[in-house]
Amino acid sequence: MKAEIIGIGTEILLGHTLNTNAAYISRKLAGAGIDVYYHTTVGDNKNRLYESIKTALARSDIAITTGGLGPTIDDITLGVIAKTAKSPLALKKKILRQIKRHFQKRGIKMPANNIRQAYVPKGAIWLANHIGTAPGLIVKTNKKFIIALPGPPREMQPIFENEVLPFLENHIFRKAVILSRTLKTTGLAESQVHDKIAGFLRLSGKTTVGIYAHPGQVDIKITTKAASLTQANRNITKIEKKIRLKLGKLVFGTDAQTLEGAVARLLKTKTISIAESCTGGLISSRLTDVSGISKNLFASVIAYSNKSKVKILRISPETLRHYGAASKEVAANMAVNARLLLKSDIGISTTGIAGPSGATGKKPVGLVYIGLSDKNKVIVKKFNFTGTRDIIKFRASQAALDTLRLHLLK
Ligand code: AMP
Ligand code: MG
Repeated sequence: MKAEIIGIGTEILLGHTLNTNAAYISRKLAGAGIDVYYHTTVGDNKNRLYESIKTALARSDIAITTGGLGPTIDDITLGVIAKTAKSPLALKKKILRQIKRHFQKRGIKMPANNIRQAYVPKGAIWLANHIGTAPGLIVKTNKKFIIALPGPPREMQPIFENEVLPFLENHIFRKAVILSRTLKTTGLAESQVHDKIAGFLRLSGKTTVGIYAHPGQVDIKITTKAASLTQANRNITKIEKKIRLKLGKLVFGTDAQTLEGAVARLLKTKTISIAESCTGGLISSRLTDVSGISKNLFASVIAYSNKSKVKILRISPETLRHYGAASKEVAANMAVNARLLLKSDIGISTTGIAGPSGATGKKPVGLVYIGLSDKNKVIVKKFNFTGTRDIIKFRASQAALDTLRLHLLK
């Protein structure tokens, strides 16, 4: 069973809207074992849309369109599908009632334009939209399907999940399940991770392994094709175990898990306080994305200026003058004082040069020191990050969180 996805909207062609619908639908179809061979994008133009749907149906079993179902004159999808399927538009009262209810709930009279949305190709299956006015549709033509969905992702996604997927699963012979699992690492470069797991990257057959680098993170993605979800999970887990043996503590989580989430889990009942300079609050922001972190995160100080490092964190002016703010000594003092002044089990600090200005002869852009202090010791790690200012800040936050994670793992 082959499907393709047609994104409709001139705004996508102009680059104003990113076609996230195609990505979402492709992921879902892969999970359902349906192959996607083409993504097409077409503007709000009747002839070109007609050609796109025709072409799609000539080579695939299902054409899924998103967009162009609105009430305005540039919303052309319904008319073009009617032409392609050779079934004329007809008023569907059920849809009209639903659209009227949508406006009633908001205390607005339905604008006359919206009546257009209730004229759909005869014989189409109607998919209710509980968020907006544009319904989704399934139209059968010559044993193939055209599935039309609204453009806004928050309207499209529930219709796809609740209506389209069950429909496809009931009507379509399921060949296989395609399943992926991502192991996330930080701390090593892509080539270093590559060397550790090179043998797995050459796998061919039902289960394959890929490596994907992002700033401050390298992902390993295991993908398999199997007859059932249980078998797919079994295939993946078998390879995952072997890869984990090679990577050990490097893996901080899988799939939707985050580094800050991993840290939060490991903190258990320990408390931390953070003194951030070059990361400007990013570590604290990321940690506070985790629900329940209030039992661990006592306080954060963004001590950006030298003055605040002296006044709030009690760093000695001599230390600052002698070593400079971006130094091992200042990072150590910041971590220790954050812990002591804020009375926490652990203190974390960052200080460095995020660039693009601020470099000196001995201290390049990207130089960052990360400090960690507990009652037994203080450690400082030195990093030389590359990238733009925001990437350096992110890499530093990633390194600080991972320093904390590795400390807690011991
Ligand atoms: P439309 O139904 O064509 O009027 O689209 C309404 C809105 O949905 C657009 O203005 C976009 O913000 C959004 N949208 C349309 N198509 C897509 C797409 N393929 N991916 C993400 N968003 C989209
Ligand atoms: Mg549009």
